[in-house]
Amino acid sequence: MIQLIRGFKDILPDEAGLWQMVEQTAIRLFTDFGFKEIRVPLMEHTELFARSIGEGTDIVEKEMYTFADRKGELLTLRPEATASVARAYIQHKLYAVDPIRKFFTIGPMFRRERPQKGRYRQFYQINAEVYGIDSPLMDAQLIFMLTTLLARLSVPEARAHINSLGCPACRPQFKEALLAFTAEAEDRLCEDCRRRRTQNPLRLLDCKVPTCREAMAGAPALPDFLCDDCRDHFEAVKTGLRDLGVDVVIDKRLVRGLDYYTRTTFEVHAGGLGAQSAVAGGGRYDGLISTLGGPATPAVGFAIGFDRLVEITALSAADHDKRPDIFVAALGEASRAAALKLSSDLSMAGILTEIDFSSKSLKSLMKRADRLQAKFVLMLGESELESGAAMLRNMGTKEQIPVPLENFAARVKEILGEA
Ligand code: AMP
Repeated sequence: MIQLIRGFKDILPDEAGLWQMVEQTAIRLFTDFGFKEIRVPLMEHTELFARSIGEGTDIVEKEMYTFADRKGELLTLRPEATASVARAYIQHKLYAVDPIRKFFTIGPMFRRERPQKGRYRQFYQINAEVYGIDSPLMDAQLIFMLTTLLARLSVPEARAHINSLGCPACRPQFKEALLAFTAEAEDRLCEDCRRRRTQNPLRLLDCKVPTCREAMAGAPALPDFLCDDCRDHFEAVKTGLRDLGVDVVIDKRLVRGLDYYTRTTFEVHAGGLGAQSAVAGGGRYDGLISTLGGPATPAVGFAIGFDRLVEITALSAADHDKRPDIFVAALGEASRAAALKLSSDLSMAGILTEIDFSSKSLKSLMKRADRLQAKFVLMLGESELESGAAMLRNMGTKEQIPVPLENFAARVKEILGEA
């Protein structure tokens, strides 16, 4: 038997109701904050990710699913959505009429990481991105929107951690200080960190190898190197968050794995995730659009790990697994034609109706209705057709009521409304 690819997974129908509910809650909330959906392809030219995410990042160095297509063109399954959204913003000149755009997008990402709990090679993200606004109040509102979503989805112990990564004016001084510090500690660093030290020294701050963590314990901290503009910006983000009642942890060591971040950077950690405790991450990336050849445009956004969100929400898959309102039990050959019409009418009227068109006995049909946890069973036999009324059995109370077949869907709707 052919199995699925390692690190990939199926989302089975029992869980799908919860996934849909999470998605719809996000869409509703983001829409109310003025965001519109954008759908971008799953595959792009490799160059797009190499340029935007940056050489010297784990994603570009080790994790991308890249292949040459039949004409030898290098293509990559997207490891994240921001680069594609930025490409679309530039390519379609979405800035032309109004440079301010707020997008969300939901879909699968691909990274060839080591699979473990909470880490897959195909996983889903919910992204929100704002272009054209450099106000720190936007950063604050975006983090507020994110934590509001997590609260609506009953995510336990969600806490935002924030930091500022500075800008091209002040980051070089920090990098220099970091280089000087790590020169002393070099022999205690892992191979990756030693290699990256000159290329991308910020990454040394979030290496998970214990000896690196130890070696980096007294390293210089970014917020101490911010220029006046960056410091004011960071302070205003914090004030905005306080005004909105969002409780945050200032985490001076927080850096993110992607090159394009500037100024505000954040992660949300939650309970129940173990080692992989980040449920979302994001920040400002004011340089990305110009790096990709667009007009200088400030931007800020986040990505939520959809799979992790579903794993930790206190909402249960069982509660969101839809059960039939009505199970139609057609008894006898003649009643099946009538049941076809009747059950279709019920479905058309928005009533979740299950029917299997089998010629099983009433007993085995009732068993199936029970297993599906149907709210009502409609028993339709020849005598019911003759009398023009069918029995509707409430599976909870066991009460049976005859319902005239004329105008049936409307009558059932009423009964369901009362039940
Ligand atoms: P990133 O794009 O790396 O900033 O990740 C944003 C969020 O996506 C993380 O906080 C995780 O919740 C989620 N995420 C990242 N990588 C994976 C993965 N391999 N499997 C599952 N979720 C992931």
